[in-house]
Amino acid sequence: MGSTRHDGDTWDLASGVGATATAAAAARAIASRSEPRLIDDPFAEPLVRAVGIDLLTRLATGETDPDELVGRTAVDGAKVRTRFYDDFFLAATRAGVAQVVILASGLDSRAYRLPWPSGTVVYEVDQPGVVEFKTRALADLGAEPTADRRAVAVDLRDDWPAALRAAGFDRALPTAWSAEGLLGYLPPEAQDRLLDTVTDLSAPGSRVATESRPNPRPGDEDRTRASLDRTSERWREQGFDTDMATLRYFGERNEAGPYLSGLGWTLTGSSVRDLLAAHGLPPIEDDDLRMAGLLYVSGVLGE
Ligand code: SAM
Repeated sequence: MGSTRHDGDTWDLASGVGATATAAAAARAIASRSEPRLIDDPFAEPLVRAVGIDLLTRLATGETDPDELVGRTAVDGAKVRTRFYDDFFLAATRAGVAQVVILASGLDSRAYRLPWPSGTVVYEVDQPGVVEFKTRALADLGAEPTADRRAVAVDLRDDWPAALRAAGFDRALPTAWSAEGLLGYLPPEAQDRLLDTVTDLSAPGSRVATESRPNPRPGDEDRTRASLDRTSERWREQGFDTDMATLRYFGERNEAGPYLSGLGWTLTGSSVRDLLAAHGLPPIEDDDLRMAGLLYVSGVLGE
């Protein structure tokens, strides 16, 4: 099946691209319970439960054993990915950055669980159906943000800088930006525009973290689609009707890392293999194409 994506499509956390945020939170809930405990996201499980996709709730709560459905690599991958961005933000705030923008925040709970220095402002940007749901669900859980959290409900293919400014964003201040698990859900030109805009809005000393995926070699994308289809099929058998291969944009695009370097960012990158080894976790399973070439990149503008 081809992509079902189109300009201006919308979603909530139970449908389409939004459900990928719920799946990511379910992976964090599983990862938070699994040894060694590299991460502890206490909000992941209740947020997944609040969304109400039965299979993801059963996985997040542990009622359904994840072993068959979510491989070890995916759970360890969620651990190192969460730690990468947590460590990025903590280092940025230690360096004095007090303005944070989490692009495509999904069910990320960093604004409620990281020890932000007082005075830190954290903007969370995602589609209205996503960001508004999370605000309500966490308030219902009695959770309090650990920073001055500002929800920005906007599509990242639209004029999101205007929405960010309206929420109080100050482009004169250095900013720590993250785009976690986002870029593959944007069309190639929207990815470039997003990275251009991030750069344009970045005062000296700003930092960025995201994922950079190498362009596919012949046959790679067919194998990735087949792997996504197998996962979707297993999930459908368990009652969660999803077709993950149709949610992503495939094909050539600029690689985020080199593209950002060309815009003046000084980046370092770590592969999933590097991060697993750094945390003493076993190596990636060879056939996990979706993670094999992925680089987590972060760095500073200029320098
Ligand atoms: N960063 C979160 C995490 O790692 O848990 C969520 C990642 S989830 C795989 C992808 C997220 O990107 C979803 O929350 C989705 O709503 C958001 N997203 C994708 N395209 C978007 C767009 N055009 N505008 C706003 N948000 C978008």
